[in-house]
Amino acid sequence: MELYREKETCCGCGACADICPVGAIHMAMDEEGFRYPEIDEKTCIKCGKCASACPMKGKRAEKAKNSYLGVRAKDRKLRLASSSGGMFPLLADYVLRQQGVVCGAAYDGDMRVVHREARDRQELDALKRTKYVQSDLTGVYRRIRRHLEEGRWVLFCGTPCQAHALRLFLGKAYPKLILADLVCYGAPSPGIWASYVRSLERKQGGKMTAFSFRDKRAGDNGHTCAYVAAGKEYAGSLNADLFCRMYFTDHIIRPSCHACGYCSVDRDSDFTLGDFWGLGKVRPDMDDGFGTSMVILHTEQARKIWEEVKGEADWFPCRREDVLQPRLQTPTKAAAGRAQFMNLYRRLPFPLFLKWFWLKQTWAGAWRRLTGGRGGK
Ligand SMILES: Cc1cc2nc3c(=O)[nH]c(=O)nc-3n(C[C@H](O)[C@H](O)[C@H](O)COP(=O)(O)OP(=O)(O)OC[C@H]3O[C@@H](n4cnc5c(N)ncnc54)[C@H](O)[C@@H]3O)c2cc1C
Ligand code: SF4
Ligand code: SF4
Ligand code: SF4
Repeated sequence: MELYREKETCCGCGACADICPVGAIHMAMDEEGFRYPEIDEKTCIKCGKCASACPMKGKRAEKAKNSYLGVRAKDRKLRLASSSGGMFPLLADYVLRQQGVVCGAAYDGDMRVVHREARDRQELDALKRTKYVQSDLTGVYRRIRRHLEEGRWVLFCGTPCQAHALRLFLGKAYPKLILADLVCYGAPSPGIWASYVRSLERKQGGKMTAFSFRDKRAGDNGHTCAYVAAGKEYAGSLNADLFCRMYFTDHIIRPSCHACGYCSVDRDSDFTLGDFWGLGKVRPDMDDGFGTSMVILHTEQARKIWEEVKGEADWFPCRREDVLQPRLQTPTKAAAGRAQFMNLYRRLPFPLFLKWFWLKQTWAGAWRRLTGGRGGK
């Protein structure tokens, strides 16, 4: 059984491992820190279920009758605790009111990013906010199917490939399932994230217990990054954080993301959520620095639920052209120096590797300033 040949054709969603009836697949980390399935051929009974759940092989969404919105939660606390305008917590609140289950990305005790469930507002807090690390969905697909079979409402929020994988895994429509996917720049390496967390813990002399990639305290639309280690908080610019630098300079994104088939406004989900880029041009009066969500409603289910939650939001309808940011059109390109970067990541002790990257970035910045913008990353 072969699930993928080139790394570009596996997004690491883990649906194949969850659907295998005999437990023949486990997800293993490669040298770049990304998870890929490995099949135990001796256990495999060649049933083909793994391939049927694979989003990289499944049919993509047809053109849907989309509605485009700008949304921000009226409750300022919800917006402050979220990365964009707080559309996710508004949807989550609707599902919790139905005694349903919300599934989204959170940190575990070791700061690994994993999808987990919330059944009340307190548990929901951990699921809010963007974590720029590919999340682990081991066991999640099966648990969601169980909840749906029991007749519960379920909201799943994740990357488009994860949401598509869930739909394929389930194999049939469930009226109480709400799928929300994100506009997606690409999934950063969980292995490199783990090394980064350990390096900050060494530097600050204690365990990391929180990391916010999109902190809004400065009213800068979440361009502040903050973490807590050894009980002390550190905050700075998103661009100055080295992990974020590696991400936004396109060095640590999964190979499949550079060939992503979901860079479109048409999706397999009910809702697509993102940041409202270019809000200042469309609705300058709403651009207060605390985030506004870009929301696409794809299905009748989404339009029905929107009617239930819109009273909790300040919002406006808009056009497709207003929301068309780059990641709704084309995949992120890999950095020109990605291969060299990964080569050094494999060979150097991590603190030395970080120093090399910092020097390279500092030099590139100085060169850009010297040459008035010319020069490489
Ligand atoms: C890796 C990544 C890249 C993104 N790239 C873009 C982009 O290029 N342009 C853009 O407009 N928006 C992007 N987003 C989406 C954006 O950052 C917000 O997550 C989104 O707008 C929802 O914000 P909110 O205020 O509604 O809710 P929030 O409270 O911020 O909710 C965040 C939701 O995102 C989910 N989530 C968080 N981290 C992850 C993760 N690692 N994997 C899967 N799901 C996760 C959580 O489950 C939660 O449900 C990206 C998000 C991620 C995770
Ligand atoms: S073919 Fe069936 S048994 Fe074999 S790995 Fe795939 S799901 Fe498991
Ligand atoms: S189901 Fe997901 S993890 Fe498995 S081969 Fe396909 S893309 Fe990779
Ligand atoms: S960029 Fe595409 S392939 Fe990568 S995580 Fe996002 S949706 Fe999945």
